[in-house]
Amino acid sequence: MTLRTTSNLKCECGHEGTLSSAENDQPYSIPWVRHDLNGFSGTIADWQLDRLRCPSCGQEGRVEYVEEP
Ligand SMILES: [Zn+2]
Repeated sequence: MTLRTTSNLKCECGHEGTLSSAENDQPYSIPWVRHDLNGFSGTIADWQLDRLRCPSCGQEGRVEYVEEP
């Protein structure tokens, strides 16, 4: 089974994006996570956002997860 989640991201400047993840949660198989980034450039490692670059303001590491209402 594959677990899919989507998180909303927002930069300090107000630029928004999303991070979609597909995660293999099947026991006794090789675990894997695939991230699909929209709105920002950079790489995601261990769910850390500090390497993301905002295309709007050009800053790096200003992106945070947006809490669901
Ligand atoms: Zn920004």
